[in-house]
Amino acid sequence: MELTSVVGRLRHGFGAGRTKPARWRRTQLQALRTLLVEGEQELAAALRTDLGKGTVESYASELGFVINEVDFALKHLDRWMRPERVHVPRSLLPARARTVPEPLGVVLVISPWNYPVMLALAPMVGAIAAGNCVVLKPSELAPATSAALARLVPRYLDEQAIAVVEGGVDETSALLEQRFDHIFYTGNGRVGRIVMQAAVRHLTPVTLELGGKSPAIVEQGVDLAATARRLVWGKFFNAGQSCTAPDYVLAIGSARELERHLADAIRAMYGDDPSRSPDYGRIVNERHFDRLTALLDSGRVVIGGEHDRNARYIAPTVLADVPADSPVMSEEIFGPILPVLDVPDLDTALAFINERDKPLALYAFTADPRTRRRVLAETSSGAVGFGLPNAHLTVPGLPFGGVGESGTGRYHGPHSFETFSHTKAVLDKPLTPDTLRAAYPPITPLKQRLIRAFT
Ligand code: NAD
Repeated sequence: MELTSVVGRLRHGFGAGRTKPARWRRTQLQALRTLLVEGEQELAAALRTDLGKGTVESYASELGFVINEVDFALKHLDRWMRPERVHVPRSLLPARARTVPEPLGVVLVISPWNYPVMLALAPMVGAIAAGNCVVLKPSELAPATSAALARLVPRYLDEQAIAVVEGGVDETSALLEQRFDHIFYTGNGRVGRIVMQAAVRHLTPVTLELGGKSPAIVEQGVDLAATARRLVWGKFFNAGQSCTAPDYVLAIGSARELERHLADAIRAMYGDDPSRSPDYGRIVNERHFDRLTALLDSGRVVIGGEHDRNARYIAPTVLADVPADSPVMSEEIFGPILPVLDVPDLDTALAFINERDKPLALYAFTADPRTRRRVLAETSSGAVGFGLPNAHLTVPGLPFGGVGESGTGRYHGPHSFETFSHTKAVLDKPLTPDTLRAAYPPITPLKQRLIRAFT
């Protein structure tokens, strides 16, 4: 596919005003919904091939998520598109001021492999709702899903405004040569830097949805059995390959007991042999499998540790006695390995977190309101989850995004619409009466007094 002509086609469509009317946006959002409903089997099969995802998991965390985003956007689109009145200072009266959202133009969405449907289509919901043309570049590391999207999108959506470009580094690099009006990238920080650098050339704004090590603090005195269930659910969903998954646990004084509960929870959810559980996923490829198995030596394996390269299977694994400077603690794990670190108190836990990059999410399991206040006030992260990992991203009113090394920008619900819109400032002042006369030179002493009084 000739990239220049693809982008040129969309730019022509945007220039002709094709995507601006609310009607187009609604039709496309509804068509996207239909794609997800009618294409469910095809997409679920692709997700099984790429990541061993079960049908229910695929629906809950991928297709269903996007359907909810579409429905939310359809419900609120009129309000989002409406201009908003803004207060005018008395020095300018009579006048009216308002903000008007306008689409940015042709936007590029680059998505990763771990939720290859959700992370491709959810940003597209916002881009379409805001009236943009979209080039979608799915991840080559989820090839079956990438191919399914490349088949389905042109079948359901407006080809003059929305295109899928498949490929890996070469194709993405070539795409980044093109001029876009926004680049929305989800993936790792190394490539995030490449994207940002490419964007500089055209002063293109970027959203970077990155990752990092999201900690979970577990305080003494909480219900450890319930905490363990929540941690196991949040960590081992999609075999740990979730950007918001708890990366490691800082257990305040109760690490040994927590480890026992984690073992119980893993057994209860995935059975004695998780490789036979239909609810447990696989590692995306051999490279990531090798990277992850090399991390198993970073501590004492309390549970799990079994792995099978041919099946790209790594059992849900808990590591204890993990030194803070071990390999498993120096990079984002992004797989089913959960180190539990023993810390003496909250001060140590907060200091540990603050010595590291700002995480995408920070979780705390505590019954103490003072701890909640301290966690919020003394740390910085994309999001905070008290008592439950990952689920904040399913609340459409909450912005989803990182800070610092975990990313820049936000989306979901109204925040997606804002991300893909320019908020235009409009001031409307009648020519008569000409109330500004007092401000025109020459500035007399009387005018000076008036200007001071009204400024
Ligand atoms: P990936 O390897 O699929 O890469 C993401 C995209 O970048 C792909 O489309 C790929 O083609 C492209 N790409 C790769 N190398 C490139 C290069 N040299 N130049 C240009 N483009 C290139 O996915 P990944 O980065 O391994 O994804 C995992 C990371 O993403 C983790 O760090 C995870 O935390 C993060 N993540 C973040 C979110 C979020 O919403 N914040 C969601 C999922 C994953």
